[in-house]
Amino acid sequence: MPLKIKFFLWQVFNNKVQVGVNLIKKGWKGKKTCVCGGLESIEHMSFHCNMENFVWGIIKELFQLSCVPSSLSDLSMIDNPNICYRFMALNKN
Ligand SMILES: [Zn+2]
Repeated sequence: MPLKIKFFLWQVFNNKVQVGVNLIKKGWKGKKTCVCGGLESIEHMSFHCNMENFVWGIIKELFQLSCVPSSLSDLSMIDNPNICYRFMALNKN
């Protein structure tokens, strides 16, 4: 798996992604809502936003997955053979 992907996943699982909710905690004066109106959290931006659902749909189709994760806990299931196997196979090429 490429280092940049590993780093991004580390940020996701350690709640370090610069989303509205995290930026507000650091004193940011902007909005903590997503463009869709939802609370801009990692969970929302990764799985619940309509825009992200579109991206997961493309990933599902592109990698011919039978399912995609619907939450951080789903994504953290390293033994999900369908997703992990297909991503690893892609990275070998
Ligand atoms: Zn949204």
